[in-house]
Amino acid sequence: MSIISRVIEFLFPPACPICGAPVKTHGELCGDCWSCFDWIDGPHCARCGYPFPDGYEPDANAMCPVCAAGKSDLEYVRAACIYDDMSRSVMLPFKHGGRIKFARFMSRAMIWAMRDIDISPDLVMPVPLANRRLFQRGYNQATLLSREIARAYGVPIDFDSVHRKYRPNMGHKTHAQRHEHIRGVFNVMCPDKIRGKKILLVDDVMTSGATFDELARVLRRAGAAEIYGVVFCRVVRAE
Ligand SMILES: [Zn+2]
Ligand SMILES: [Zn+2]
Repeated sequence: MSIISRVIEFLFPPACPICGAPVKTHGELCGDCWSCFDWIDGPHCARCGYPFPDGYEPDANAMCPVCAAGKSDLEYVRAACIYDDMSRSVMLPFKHGGRIKFARFMSRAMIWAMRDIDISPDLVMPVPLANRRLFQRGYNQATLLSREIARAYGVPIDFDSVHRKYRPNMGHKTHAQRHEHIRGVFNVMCPDKIRGKKILLVDDVMTSGATFDELARVLRRAGAAEIYGVVFCRVVRAE
């Protein structure tokens, strides 16, 4: 370690981004905070990553009923953890309160979530925000999550091939209403950058999957070869 690195380590020792406890490396969570999340580390749908109920022991290629029944434009989707009080307590300040230092552990967890899929994306695409939201918030949280993921795959981040129209918040709506609400919001501006490409979509949270589905639909129409998605957390319906 260089002298400068030692001085920086001394002045800013690595601390858990959530509680501030000392940790070994920058951006890493302490053991206590790590254990508060409901990580998706058990059997899950081979395609969409939906966690199977406890005690169910499927074979490695088992799919959930939704994936088994229909064709999706996404080859694979993975989520690091389940959306609950703990993940909400980091998501809200990350998304709306400027706590961008959470991006590091979140994106690392997302890379971990993709450990069982063999993909080689050509580019990483953060789910676009409408310009009005980008100006309000100052940053796209999905772009912050994309950095470490793009680095892990050694590929560029595509910020601008797809444009998103502004639509007011949808609040709590049904699955069908969410799909209806999002339809037509994405426009591919640079089809040349999409055609024939394998694209990894990145977002912070997945609720109904409507956003990924719609973005994948327009990318597929623009000639994308394969599309995958990864999120930090996903809503899992109570069984
Ligand atoms: Zn902690
Ligand atoms: Zn599935």
